[in-house]
Amino acid sequence: MNISRTKTTCPYCGVGCGVIVSMHENGRVEVQGDPDHPANYGRLCSKGSALGETVYLAERLLYPEVEGEQVSWERAYAHIAAEFSAIIKKHGPDAVAFYVSGQLLTEDYYVANKLMKGFIGSANIDTNSRLCMSSAVAAYKRAFGEDVMPCNYDDLKRAQLIVLAGSNTAWCHPVLYQHMLQSKESNPDVRIVTIDPRRTQTSDISDYHLSIRPGTDAVLFNGLLVWLEAAGEIDVHFVENSTQGMAQALASARLSSADVSMVADVCGINVDQLEQFYRLFTRTERVVTVFSQGLSQYSSGVDKINSIINCYLLTGRIGRKGMGPFSLTGQPNAMGGREVGGLANQLAAHMEIDNAQHREIVAQFWQSKTLASKAGLKAINCFDAIENRDVKAVWIMATNPVVSMPDADRVKAALEKCEFVVVSDCVANTDTSRLAHVCLPATTWGERDGTVTNSERRISRQRPFLSAPGLAKHDWQIITELAQVMGFEAAFPYRSAAEIFDEYARLTAYKKAENRQLDLSGLCDMSLHEYNNLLPVQWPVPAHGNSSASLPMFSDGRFSTDNRRACFIAITPRAPASAVSESYPFVLNTGRVRDHWHTMTRTGMSPRLSAHSIEPFVEVHPDDAKKFSLIDGKLAQISSETGAEIFVRIRVTSRQQQGSLFVPMHWNLQFSSQARVSSLIRTVVDPISGQPEFKHAVASIKSCDANWYGFIISRQKPELKYSRYWARSRGKGFWRYEIAGQQQPEDWAAHAKTLLHVEPGEEWAEFYDKADGHYRAARFVAGHLDSIIFIDSSVLLPPRDWLISLFQKDSISASERLSLLQGLPPADIEDAGKIICACFNVGEKTICHAVTEQAAHSVESVGEICQAGINCGSCRPEIVELIKRCAVDDCSG
Ligand code: SF4
Repeated sequence: MNISRTKTTCPYCGVGCGVIVSMHENGRVEVQGDPDHPANYGRLCSKGSALGETVYLAERLLYPEVEGEQVSWERAYAHIAAEFSAIIKKHGPDAVAFYVSGQLLTEDYYVANKLMKGFIGSANIDTNSRLCMSSAVAAYKRAFGEDVMPCNYDDLKRAQLIVLAGSNTAWCHPVLYQHMLQSKESNPDVRIVTIDPRRTQTSDISDYHLSIRPGTDAVLFNGLLVWLEAAGEIDVHFVENSTQGMAQALASARLSSADVSMVADVCGINVDQLEQFYRLFTRTERVVTVFSQGLSQYSSGVDKINSIINCYLLTGRIGRKGMGPFSLTGQPNAMGGREVGGLANQLAAHMEIDNAQHREIVAQFWQSKTLASKAGLKAINCFDAIENRDVKAVWIMATNPVVSMPDADRVKAALEKCEFVVVSDCVANTDTSRLAHVCLPATTWGERDGTVTNSERRISRQRPFLSAPGLAKHDWQIITELAQVMGFEAAFPYRSAAEIFDEYARLTAYKKAENRQLDLSGLCDMSLHEYNNLLPVQWPVPAHGNSSASLPMFSDGRFSTDNRRACFIAITPRAPASAVSESYPFVLNTGRVRDHWHTMTRTGMSPRLSAHSIEPFVEVHPDDAKKFSLIDGKLAQISSETGAEIFVRIRVTSRQQQGSLFVPMHWNLQFSSQARVSSLIRTVVDPISGQPEFKHAVASIKSCDANWYGFIISRQKPELKYSRYWARSRGKGFWRYEIAGQQQPEDWAAHAKTLLHVEPGEEWAEFYDKADGHYRAARFVAGHLDSIIFIDSSVLLPPRDWLISLFQKDSISASERLSLLQGLPPADIEDAGKIICACFNVGEKTICHAVTEQAAHSVESVGEICQAGINCGSCRPEIVELIKRCAVDDCSG
C-alpha cells in the first residue's frame, strides 16, 4: 500500500510539536510525533495523537455563502469589497475591523495586518491571542524593550528548580510537562514548585504546592524580591551595568510585601511553606519560572508578570542557560501573530505603531501612503465599538468570539445588530458564523501551508498533506484576493505562502535598529524548495553571526530598550476587579480540560478526545458543596454579575479551594444547552495589555434539581424537546447525550420513539415504570444496537461505559440483550469504566483492577499490564491518582 509521509506541526497549543502524518491510500491518516523536532523529540499528547480523527469533511464549510446562499468567490469578494468600501467611504477606515486568531499561520496574519494597517488605513485588527497572552507581551516589552521571550525548552531540562505559576502544564502544555517529568525522574535533585489556587494535575508532581489566594501572585513575587535583596542575592555587576529602576521596584515591593508573615497572610498560605519556597529560589542558581494564563488572565496580569521578571533582573539570572521567566503561549501561532503585528497596538516585525520612525519604515517598505497612524481597537474595545455601532463591519477569521469572549452574550448581541459581519472559518456552523452575512470557507490543518512560531520562538513549517476541499482557500489567499478586488493589487501580488514569508523576513531586516532582536534576515531569499524544506529554527536568525540556538537571548547583558538596559518595574499589587459578596460568594476561575481545545470545533469531533470529559462541569470544594446543598453528579446553575447563567454538572473535589469554583472554557452551543462560561465573565481588562480577567469573576451557584435525568446514545442525532439541560459528545459511530429537565412528556414510551426516529415495525425493547419515573428503551437495526435511552427521576443512572461498548459490536448477544435495559454488563463481562487513557481507550476500572489485582503500583507497571499511559503520557497524572486512591479504596465500585 502507498503511504505518503508529511512533516508538519500540531495545530493546538503553543508547545508547537512536530508531527509526521502518514496518509494511507484508503484515506486513513496516522499521526506520530516527529523524533527530529526539537519541541517534542517524538512525543505527543492525547490531543496531538488523536489528530488523525479530526481530519473529516462533515461539518466543514465548503463554499462561500452570502446571506446563507452559496455563491462564487468572485461574487463573495465583490460583495465584501462593496460593503467595506462603502462603510469606509462614509464613516472612515476606523469603522471597519478584523478580529483574527492565533490559529492563523504567520503568512495569513502578515497579509491581514498589511491590508488593515497598511492599506485600509486603520489599526483595527486584533487577535484572540489578546485573550491569552497579551499581558506577557506587555510585560516583556516593559522589562526588555521588546516582546522577547528569553527562554528555550532546553532551559527546562537544565533547570534545577522549575516554578510553575498559574500554569496547569500537565493538561495545557502536556509535552512540556513530560519533559519536566523526565528531567525530574532523571535528576532527583530537580525541584518543582507550583503556585496555583487549585491543586491541579501539575501540582501532583510538585515538591511544593503553594495554594495561594486567587489573584495574590504579585504580592508573593514582590515578597520574593524583598527576600532576595535581604539575602544578599543581588547580582551587583548585572544590575549596575544592565538594568535600571531597581530602587523603585524594591521600594514598592517593600510596601506590599515587607516580610514573610505579611505575604503569607495576604496569600493565604503558611509562613513555613512560603519560606521554603523563598529559600529554594534563593539557593538555586538555575531557576525557570513558567507562567501562562493563570497569571496573564487578570486585570493586573502585566504587573504580576513583571513582578516575576524583577526577581530575575535582581539576581542576574537572565541570558544564561537553564534560567529565566518563561511565558507559555496558549495557541499554536500566538507568537507568530505577535511577530507580524497581529495585535492592534503593534506594527509588523516588532515595530511600534506609536513610533513615527517605525511607521515610516513600514510605510516605505510596503509603499503605503495610508498606514494607520495610531493604535487600533483591542479585542474587547472592538466588540464594544461594534455594540455602539462605531465599528459597522467586522471580518472574523478562524475564531469563535461568541463563545470565547468575556460577556459572550453581549458579544453575540453586538454581532446580531452589526451592519456587516464576515466570518472565514473551516467549520460551517459555529456560534459566530450563524450571525454572519458572509461566510468564507477556509482551509484547515492538513491543508494549510505556511509557518507557525511556538512558545520558544521556534519557527516551524505547517505543511499540507490534503488538498483543499470544496472551494476552500487558504486565509492568506482569501485576504490577498479581496485586497486585489479592493484595488490594492500592487501591494498584494502573492501567489504562495513562501512569497509572503520572504517579504516578512525582509521586513525584519529592513532598516533594522541594532537593538531589535527579531531578525529573520538569515531566512530571506529562500527558494521555494528551501522554504518547503525549512527545518524548525529559532529566531533571531541573522544573516551573519550567531542565532539564539547557540547563545541565550540577552546573553551580552544588552536589551532592546533605547539605552540597552532592562527595566525593573515598580509593582503595587492590585486586587482583582470583582470582590465576592453576599450575592456572589464565589470566585469563579475558568480554564482547560485535558483533551479539549478552545471551543471544541476540532477536538469535539474526536471520539477519543471526547471520552475524557463528556460534559461541562463545575468543580466545588466539599465544604462548599455541603453548605450550598450541591451534590456530586447533579446539576448546578451558576450566575454572575453579567446577568448570564449557565447549567453544568457538579463535581465535588478537594482540589478546589473553599470559596472558589472552576468551570472549563470549552463548551459552546453546539455541544451543550447553556454552558458558555465566558458569558459569566465581565469585560474587565488589564489597563496596559487589554487582556480580560478570565481567572477571576464572582459568581453564585445553586443546585438545579431536575424532575428527571437521562442519557441517550444514538447513531442519529435525537430531536430533543423537554431537555432543559443537554450536553452531547461524539463517540465512535454514535452521539452521546446527557439530558435533564423539569417538564416531561405525558408518556415517555410514546415520546422516546419520536425522539429517536423509530419507524413502525422496527425492533424496539423497552421497560417503563411510570409511577417511579423509570424508562429505558433500545432500538435495534439489522441486529445491531442503534439507540438507547435511559430516563430516571434520580440522577443515579447506570454507568454508560459498557453500554457504549455495545455500539462497537456488529451484533448483540442474547446475554447482552438481557442485561441491556438493566444497564449493567452480564456477570462474565468486565466494565472498563470511565476512559482515562485516550490513546488505548483504557478505562478507570481496568486500571484499578491492574493496581488491586495485579499489584501494579507504578505508572510503568500499569502500562505494562493494560497499556494505559505508555503512549502520549497525558493520562499519567490521573493514573498516579488512581494508584493512590486504590491504595485506600478497594475500587470495586
Ligand atoms: Fe499538540 Fe499536545 Fe504538542 Fe500541544 S503538547 S503541540 S497539543 S501535541
